[in-house]
Amino acid sequence: MLRSTAVLAALLLLTACGSTQKPRAYYDSTGFQQAPASNAQRAALASTAKSRLKGRKVAVRQNGKTAPVTAFEKLPVAVLQALLVVSDDGRKGAEADLLIPVKGEGTYPVTVVVDLNGSMVAEAGPKLRWPTPKSEGDLQRGFGTGPLQKTGRSHWDEPSRLALQSALERLSAAERKALVAMPFVRAPNGKPKERAGQHIVQNCGEKLFVYDRAFQSQGVQFVGTPSAPLPASAMVVLHELGHALHSRPGRLAYCAYEREVAAVNKAKASYNAKVKRYNQLAKQNKRSEAQKVGKELEREGPALEKRAAAVKKRGDQAGALLRKGPVLAAYQKVLGKKPAPTRYGEQSVQESFAESFALYHADPDALGRVLPAVLAWFRAGGHLKALGEG
Ligand SMILES: [Zn+2]
Repeated sequence: MLRSTAVLAALLLLTACGSTQKPRAYYDSTGFQQAPASNAQRAALASTAKSRLKGRKVAVRQNGKTAPVTAFEKLPVAVLQALLVVSDDGRKGAEADLLIPVKGEGTYPVTVVVDLNGSMVAEAGPKLRWPTPKSEGDLQRGFGTGPLQKTGRSHWDEPSRLALQSALERLSAAERKALVAMPFVRAPNGKPKERAGQHIVQNCGEKLFVYDRAFQSQGVQFVGTPSAPLPASAMVVLHELGHALHSRPGRLAYCAYEREVAAVNKAKASYNAKVKRYNQLAKQNKRSEAQKVGKELEREGPALEKRAAAVKKRGDQAGALLRKGPVLAAYQKVLGKKPAPTRYGEQSVQESFAESFALYHADPDALGRVLPAVLAWFRAGGHLKALGEG
């Protein structure tokens, strides 16, 4: 006789997000704290830049053309400030997307790219004005997301909605289809509290958390180009969507496993009911009927045992697929021995993929500078092909 125990084992996969150094090209997503600049400081900033950047090639990019800087005092104060913020030696190889507040004027997005030899190219955009994001309902309907949930004192305020909208707008139709119905949760803090976002797979379900920390560098950093900047928090949402994408085959395998567990449990219940009936018939001395039911039990028992063993194996396979599925395997192949596009992504292939996926959408030029083969792979839909849904 079979025992009617549930085969379902709880599975919880947390994809942690919260950062080692060798000179190389990378995208710098760490915060840059700075005091607001003012036009009154321009001469002083120009003279500091002149001495601190001595011996380095410095250029400014404007309207698609790059020209060397011949006189620092002619540069806008926001560009001078950005050059100085990124000027220390530790930033060699970096691209930094900075928001530079200028007293009495507003904030300017400035991108600075530092070569491994220390040469710098700065590009400033027009004065920053974030668009007004869509309402919660419009975001949900427009993108076909799951519910927009909230916990604690957090809510889907303008910066949160702008982060979500900026991220979702960047996805292709096929990516949106794969990530549709995601419940997004706005929550105060993750664990540890340095976490900006988190994608959680719990059995067949999933949730994407956006924490307060995602908005910490909202005033000092952006992502994308200075002429079309996105809030840095959009990078957090895209990063977590990257995790959702690579864990999808594992999660779906888990869904199939759960359905099979339910079916096996149902079959066990009816088997057990039949056993009960057999016992009753035997007690009532209804021999021929009992014999018939007994024969059925003899046939069904081993088949059910076999099915239960197969379903357990299926659960183990889903777990392995969730840890490292076909998307990560394909990404790893393209990445080769190259490091992740950001320092943060260096900790694992999962984080490397999430950072590349986020940059591919938010700042493809930045990804192309650091990992051109990875950018080409995304553009050719390599990640979707690996998913088997491209
Ligand atoms: Zn992550």
